[in-house]
Amino acid sequence: MWGRNSKKKKKRAKEPEKDAQNEQDAQNEQDPDNLCEDCIPAKCCMYFSVEIDEPEDMGDWNDMLWILAHRDAEIYMDDDRWYVLVQNPCRFYDPIKKCLIYTRRPRICRGHTWDDCEFRDDYNFDLHFHSYEEMERYIRNNLEEV
Ligand code: SF4
Ligand code: SF4
Repeated sequence: MWGRNSKKKKKRAKEPEKDAQNEQDAQNEQDPDNLCEDCIPAKCCMYFSVEIDEPEDMGDWNDMLWILAHRDAEIYMDDDRWYVLVQNPCRFYDPIKKCLIYTRRPRICRGHTWDDCEFRDDYNFDLHFHSYEEMERYIRNNLEEV
């Protein structure tokens, strides 16, 4: 499952129907606080995350170590759901012009709603591993040997 939107709530954005898309665009244009204008760089365009399976055995934890061996990869768990997080900005984001491919932006971006807006969110996940070493320590202290 993919998540471009809020780190608090991950869901796959469905292909929007045309009417729904028009409604979405209208809704986005009705931003009462003009938040997006003040949100620079756009918080929701600065990362992506992908849901992964909950680890069930040591092999799964070891697989997650492999993920964390890669630069910029993080893993977090919230509400019993697990995600890979990569804190890299979208290459199409421009601080002045905003989305450089707005009319052909991916469906996950098109499905983004104000319910998903994370402008005022603090990310307090149940578990958050920023590095390989951090997860190794967690395994050592909380689980059996890998
Ligand atoms: S995080 Fe919210 S306010 Fe910021 S750019 Fe995204 S939708 Fe707009
Ligand atoms: S494609 Fe546009 S809206 Fe989507 S993440 Fe990139 S800059 Fe943001």
